[in-house]
Amino acid sequence: MAQLEIQGLQSSLFFETPEEIYTRVFRELKPRTIPPELRVEFCRFANADSFIRLKDGRLEIRISDLLAAAPAPVLEALAHILLGKLYRKPIAPMYVHRYRLYLNRRDVRRQAHLVKQIRGRKFISGPKGEHFDLEEIFESLNAAYFDGLLGRPQLGWSRGSSRSMLGHFDPSHNAIIISRIFDKKTAPALALEYVMYHEMLHLRFPVDHTGARRRVHTREFREAEKKFPQLKAAKELLKKL
Ligand SMILES: [Zn+2]
Repeated sequence: MAQLEIQGLQSSLFFETPEEIYTRVFRELKPRTIPPELRVEFCRFANADSFIRLKDGRLEIRISDLLAAAPAPVLEALAHILLGKLYRKPIAPMYVHRYRLYLNRRDVRRQAHLVKQIRGRKFISGPKGEHFDLEEIFESLNAAYFDGLLGRPQLGWSRGSSRSMLGHFDPSHNAIIISRIFDKKTAPALALEYVMYHEMLHLRFPVDHTGARRRVHTREFREAEKKFPQLKAAKELLKKL
């Protein structure tokens, strides 16, 4: 059904330029306003982000060139999302779903991954901090819970001492980055070990892309996480950071 609907749309949108798509969606959202002059540009971003702004009465839309080959219904969905956000109009879930479904396609994800690898520069400090060595922590957890079989990614400390992002695994750069907040004498080693263990599980269990969904913490992931001893104590420590 969804397939049929999209095909039907595609034929009717086939001859529209991106500017025409945005103008048509604008009219739908704001029927009493004359659409402003607008320009759509595909840019070489490092990710699939897109931007819209109103400048000097003109709408400027900058879309990741990852979407340059996207079918018209996908560009139309993105137009609804961007214009809806700009003018604070409710965005129909079908457009969000259609757009996500496209980004979740295996070929699109692979392309996005490559682009991020090539264009996205990343600063990765070494594993040695002032008080902790991430390599030692990684390898002791690797031996204890992964039979030593997990390939070691790049390991680094974040630049700032972020509380909101305690750690993350970046698959495009095959890197685990740990917040600098843990690199001090008073930081509880257990909390740091737990954050590293969590990120190692991301290395072990890939993200599940089914349909338009993107499941980062899958059921296997959560089961494996429970194997960390003193999980509760570690989480309590994180709250007090
Ligand atoms: Zn996670």
